[in-house]
Amino acid sequence: MSFIKKVLPLFGQPYLSFAKKINFFKTRNDVRVLIFHSIPKSQENIFETQINFLQKKYGFITPNEFENFLKGESVFSGTKLLLTFDDGFLSNKTIAEKILNPRAIKAIFFVLSRLILADLEDAKKIINQGVNAGTTNFETLPEEYLPMRLEDVQALIKQGHTIGSHTASHLRLSSINSSETLEQEIINSGDQLEKLLGISIRHFAYPFGSIESVNAKAIQMAEKRYEYIHSGIRGSNCPNSNKLIWRDGISSQYSLRDLKFIIEGGYDFVYLRARKKLRAMLCPL
Ligand SMILES: [Zn+2]
Repeated sequence: MSFIKKVLPLFGQPYLSFAKKINFFKTRNDVRVLIFHSIPKSQENIFETQINFLQKKYGFITPNEFENFLKGESVFSGTKLLLTFDDGFLSNKTIAEKILNPRAIKAIFFVLSRLILADLEDAKKIINQGVNAGTTNFETLPEEYLPMRLEDVQALIKQGHTIGSHTASHLRLSSINSSETLEQEIINSGDQLEKLLGISIRHFAYPFGSIESVNAKAIQMAEKRYEYIHSGIRGSNCPNSNKLIWRDGISSQYSLRDLKFIIEGGYDFVYLRARKKLRAMLCPL
């Protein structure tokens, strides 16, 4: 995390009040899309506290309501939230059943088409080399890294959640030179999930989420296959925008004050350039 990102929450409320005063933020009618990853058992309580706070303060919408909002077919007042979970960890199914379902919160789960079918060896490879980008070398996957299997994903669908593609094996798309591999990761992953699950896959989240992790070729390929392309770049989602979705990464270490700061756009200006760059990849000038 850069220095500015560390320091900004310290200013918290005074900074936000100042920003509001100078009309930095207009009256909002927007949706913030939140990204979570694995929620290990030790963090379930923190997650529940975060969800309770967010539900009370802003409120969640469902993936369907989000789609209608983007199309301009439904209007909300204020800021609403949509939950997404990346990577397809088994802990996601646990917290869906324990925490989300009793509150009728529906989320999008972005899964890896290869991981949900992988045997233990292949799963380790995908986690070590893909999800963790070579930074780990697990011999045995720790509990928080255990992936959902096909039947777990099917269970989430039955519970009313939405599934999206997070590629086949979590490669950094900007590092892929072969068009065939890129197609495999972007297009075939969605097609395979559709076949396996018998649903349509219209949401895509590219791995790692940063502007450096993607390029024009990958974004344009994703644009042809999917209705929504989810990034990890912070920002507000508004109706009639293009297919790009801005998302806020959320960690268990964020205090409720940090969450408020992020959701109310406290970091957004840091990501201005990244949002502009991603839009330009989709629609070159
Ligand atoms: Zn990921």
